[in-house]
Amino acid sequence: MHQKPDGDAMGSTLGLYHFLIQFGHEVTVISPTNWASFLNWMPGCKTVLDFERDTVKSNSLIENADWIFCLDFNTMARTKRMEDSLLNAKGAKILIDHHQEPQTEVFQFGCSDTSKSSTAEMVYDFIISSGQGEKINDDIAQCLYAGVMTDTGSFRFPSTSSSVHHLVGDLLARGLKHNVIHEALYDNFSENRLRFIGNVLQNRMEMFYEYNAALIAIPKEDLIKYDIKTGDTEGLVNYPLSIEGIKLAAIVIDRGEERKCSFRSKGSFDVNTFARKYFEGGGHFNAAGGQSKESLEGVVAKFKKAIAENKDQLSTYQF
Ligand code: 5GP
Ligand code: MN
Repeated sequence: MHQKPDGDAMGSTLGLYHFLIQFGHEVTVISPTNWASFLNWMPGCKTVLDFERDTVKSNSLIENADWIFCLDFNTMARTKRMEDSLLNAKGAKILIDHHQEPQTEVFQFGCSDTSKSSTAEMVYDFIISSGQGEKINDDIAQCLYAGVMTDTGSFRFPSTSSSVHHLVGDLLARGLKHNVIHEALYDNFSENRLRFIGNVLQNRMEMFYEYNAALIAIPKEDLIKYDIKTGDTEGLVNYPLSIEGIKLAAIVIDRGEERKCSFRSKGSFDVNTFARKYFEGGGHFNAAGGQSKESLEGVVAKFKKAIAENKDQLSTYQF
């Protein structure tokens, strides 16, 4: 899975893990970095290796693997320090992913489909089309549901196709308790995080109405003051989109070694291209990310310049 895995990266990977182990395969899930604690409830999460913490063991497993499934990313750079180990590994690499512009030359097999809501949906399709749907147990159902639900913004993004609802119907028919998963993901945060969000919305959000855009810029001191951990800032970027007329929302967080950016849009503004062009990133049409080595102030200035350059597209609505 990609670094700093989200619900879909962790859910799709663990879903596939719970499927493959039923055939007697020896399977290990490796994350390039640590992950948000709100994912720890997922069945099997405790067995996941953190490459940065368990580098020697992870490298030995990668080196000796017959098959390496690469889920929810499509360029090796998204695996951070794991990149070289993966590129040098002799096992066949299989891509399952829904992002744009896959690095096709590094995978031997695979499925890349940007029309899919989530990688978790693609793992579900993979299991069903293998004719082994009866192997979907509660562990698989929970992991895949979490992946689909988080990547579709709780079934509201345009990617929520009828096949997504069919998938959910099927998982419910197999006995999935969906409410437990929503609570595990969204009702398990600290008081600090909620107070941090209050501060962010009050003091760190800037509006650019002439561009239908908003930017949240979070300095390092806020992360320290509120004891903010990996994952606590997930979803914050969406808040400005709830303001009438706002079409582009961005967040930049000073993570110390780099400034991490996220972009979300509604309608016809392509944040994948925007993130690629200005912030060394990429992703999907309406959800993308990037990073910068510049200072927080530098990134804010760059964002202002970038929206001015895209004024024609941003100032006219096409929902
Ligand atoms: P997020 O803003 O939640 O980090 O990411 C939104 C989407 O963009 C996700 O699908 C994620 O995989 C992708 N993404 C985030 N950061 C990067 C990046 O630096 N490069 C690329 N290519 N994709 C990114
Ligand atoms: Mn995904």
